[in-house]
Amino acid sequence: MRYVVIGSCIAAMGAVEGIRSIAQKGSITIIDGEQRGPYTRPLISYFLARPYKFKDISYRSPEFLAANGVEVIKAMAGHINRISQQVVLDNGQTVPYDRLLIAAGGSPVIPAIEGVEAPWVKTFYTLADAESLHALLAEGQNAVIIGSGLIGMKAAEALWQRGLKVNIIEKEAHILPRIMSPDSAAIISTLLNGAGIKLRCNEELTAIRSDHQIEFASGLCLHADLLILALGTRPRTELAAECGLKVNKGIVVDNYLRTNDENIFAAGDVIESKNVLTGENEIMALLPQAHKEGYLAGCNMAGHNLADAGGIFQNSVNIMDSSICSAGSLINAKSETLIWQQDDKYLELFLNGSYLSKYIAINLPEVTGPLTNTIEKQVMIAPDGWQEFIAAPSLSTIPSAYWHKIGGIPRANTWNH
Ligand SMILES: Cc1cc2nc3c(=O)[nH]c(=O)nc-3n(C[C@H](O)[C@H](O)[C@H](O)COP(=O)(O)OP(=O)(O)OC[C@H]3O[C@@H](n4cnc5c(N)ncnc54)[C@H](O)[C@@H]3O)c2cc1C
Repeated sequence: MRYVVIGSCIAAMGAVEGIRSIAQKGSITIIDGEQRGPYTRPLISYFLARPYKFKDISYRSPEFLAANGVEVIKAMAGHINRISQQVVLDNGQTVPYDRLLIAAGGSPVIPAIEGVEAPWVKTFYTLADAESLHALLAEGQNAVIIGSGLIGMKAAEALWQRGLKVNIIEKEAHILPRIMSPDSAAIISTLLNGAGIKLRCNEELTAIRSDHQIEFASGLCLHADLLILALGTRPRTELAAECGLKVNKGIVVDNYLRTNDENIFAAGDVIESKNVLTGENEIMALLPQAHKEGYLAGCNMAGHNLADAGGIFQNSVNIMDSSICSAGSLINAKSETLIWQQDDKYLELFLNGSYLSKYIAINLPEVTGPLTNTIEKQVMIAPDGWQEFIAAPSLSTIPSAYWHKIGGIPRANTWNH
């Protein structure tokens, strides 16, 4: 059996583990378009902030690849021929497959604005992006970051640590709009402002001028020595679409990560995943999700039939020494909201009747595991239970219905057996 994987990062490494957990025989070929080997993409901001070696952010070692008999081809896949079952590389080489995995991830959204090609305008998605920023930046420069999602915030913090003057621009009414609420975002905004990072919300980029002036719809004009576009990512679906695989916002797969071609699977940021809370297929660009999907796809490529139950949105990030955790989705615009705040700690719960559908926690890591589990497993907890918990959130006040559901409370006579 010839297993071929397009992409060489998180989902690809999950796939190698999945394939080898079932099949010791058969060749595995990875087509590594980025030509860097597998690395932990979220850690590129650490690479930017201070001297870092590749091995510090490596996701799997060369020894791992060798031990699993993986051949790596450093080239871009340019075309999939489904009839002859071959991947055609940009260098003209062809790679035959029996089972193919597309793990091509995503790419940053670039607005259709004149000036985006200027050398001082960058995205922040790859190690090469971090390296080219490294080469460009100098202390005291004015950096403008467009977009205050996780990627924008991590880039902003890294540049601030390097001594640049940092401005974050957000189109929505508050920072981290996908993760945070207005109240929780205000706490992080205060920290950023206190550190001298300037935030401007409700501003939309309209023009990038060659004299380093950037313009916004409101009439605002800023000088930028360095401009970083962090406007989100989109799945790299071109290869799949071009060879006739079903593509919506991402590649469409069934519960077994199989595309509409029985020999081609797809996993990670390139696919639409099932959000178990909403039941909708969505782009869920999350590292653990990509690894899990790659693993299941690998098992299924090797002959198993393991269904992917889907997942929930969950994020955990440190910004200005504050830990921010969030999980779940707002599935009802009329969710009841419970808020607790003390010193630098904050917790916001979004309830849909007796069910928790989302939470936002700042500097409260001890409760985030059970809360994420409560959402994932859809544990029913009476409103009284949530009221008691929010009065003093801690591990000891987690509603007992949670422990019963996950089997954490031993029955009274357990110890007698
Ligand atoms: C700055 C940053 C911070 C992040 N922070 C978090 C976080 O805190 N938590 C979290 O859960 N997630 C985070 N993410 C998202 C996470 O990194 C992704 O979900 C994860 O990397 C997806 O893995 P993947 O294997 O699907 O795709 P990718 O990691 O994108 O890898 C796909 C690979 O395929 C290659 N490729 C594409 N097309 C081809 C082709 N035609 N031929 C050959 N190779 C090709 C690409 O070059 C790339 O190397 C972050 C991402 C970034 C950029």
